Amino acid sequence: MNVYDSARMADVLAPLGYEPTERPADADMVILNTCHIREKAAEKVYSELGRLRALKTARRAAGRNMIIAVAGCVAQAEGAEITRRAPHVDMVFGPQAYHRLPEMVARAARAGGEVVETEFPAEPKFDHLPDPASGVGPAAFLTVQEGCDKFCTFCVVPYTRGAEYSRPAADIVDEARRLVAAGTREITLLGQNVNAYHGPGPDGAVWSLARLLRRLADLDGLERLRYTTSHPLEMGDDLVAVHGEIDKVMPYVHLPAQSGSDRILERMNRRHRAADYLRVVDALRAARPDIAISGDFIVGFPGESDADFAATLDLVRRVEYAQAYSFKFSPRPGTPAADMAEAVPDPVKDARLAELQALLDAQQRTFNQACVGRRMAVLFERRGRHAGQLVGRSPYMQAVHATAPEGLRGRIAEVHIDAGLANSLAGSLVGRAAA
Ligand code: SAH
Ligand code: SF4
Repeated sequence: MNVYDSARMADVLAPLGYEPTERPADADMVILNTCHIREKAAEKVYSELGRLRALKTARRAAGRNMIIAVAGCVAQAEGAEITRRAPHVDMVFGPQAYHRLPEMVARAARAGGEVVETEFPAEPKFDHLPDPASGVGPAAFLTVQEGCDKFCTFCVVPYTRGAEYSRPAADIVDEARRLVAAGTREITLLGQNVNAYHGPGPDGAVWSLARLLRRLADLDGLERLRYTTSHPLEMGDDLVAVHGEIDKVMPYVHLPAQSGSDRILERMNRRHRAADYLRVVDALRAARPDIAISGDFIVGFPGESDADFAATLDLVRRVEYAQAYSFKFSPRPGTPAADMAEAVPDPVKDARLAELQALLDAQQRTFNQACVGRRMAVLFERRGRHAGQLVGRSPYMQAVHATAPEGLRGRIAEVHIDAGLANSLAGSLVGRAAA
């Protein structure tokens, strides 16, 4: 979602004459778009700000200015605290305020003082954003839903991104159409709780994510649809059915589990049990037998015992993930879990994370190796590391490397999979481009 937001910020700034640069030292403005989900991500911001201070001082010495801005969820959570700790920061604004960038830039330039915008504005930012123009590639993101009302006890999202909000379906279809006209072949619909999408439809009815996917699948030139991130509770029958009925919806679902222990799931306020999660996975596999499942896990949540952790390993063994992310519990200020008793000692967290990741890595390797010998449709997105090589994505989100002509960039082609590696596949092109 931050990638999408950064591209939209670039769109907002383009009419003011700003364009992206690869070299921060040359920049008239640097925006750090930040993540607050775990402590490590948030701490990076201050070390990066330290580096930028030196660049800003050097530019000042040469008679030029550099506006430094902190955007995103760290800005939302810490607000003016950032300018106190780092006085060389000119602007601090949360994820709901970036459509006001031109006004903030003008204020920062005029006053030479700091601008802090961390209110949740009444008007939704999506109504004030220009057409997507930046970073439009063969595979693009499109935010359909933001914020979250679930309040899992470990999570900052409901505080930093605010209440759940679904964009009107017609706006999403328009944005998708413009992306396709600009060459996009695959769209990933984004939302903190994307499968809870319930936006107003053009017919006056409330549209579900399933209905939205069906509508988007009608767009000519759009070949692939994905969505992320889903909550197990919101995986309705209509959405499961879409996976069996609409070919353009890719056979891959990211479905965070967090834990396999009902006791911990309860303390996390996930509002589902391990058995509910497994039922959703079974339903998806019944609808689309080749579907690949990925997940998120937290180890070392307060009160997690050896038995609780064993239940997580058990769930992982039953699901057999194609890919997954796993994290050590990170207490976030202001969330209920940060104050819970029975904190798990760090060495225990480390050991559990290592054990879980070894299992998940082995599952990913097994999944990748099972693809060897198959033919897969690959959407080529960019050049590979070696000359004459392109890299794309399989339907199951795996990176696929193949020797292929430059002309196939942005197109889908059939690839014979020759090798399954830890994090990617290698293949060779068969036949001609399919799209
Ligand atoms: N909306 C999604 C994902 C939210 S954040 C969902 O409902 O699952 C992405 C992932 O970060 C989460 O799935 C969780 O595994 C992890 N995460 C969130 N807060 C965390 C914390 N305090 N400590 C460790 N991991 C966390
Ligand atoms: Fe955070 Fe996801 Fe839970 Fe919402 S559903 S509180 S975004 S983990």
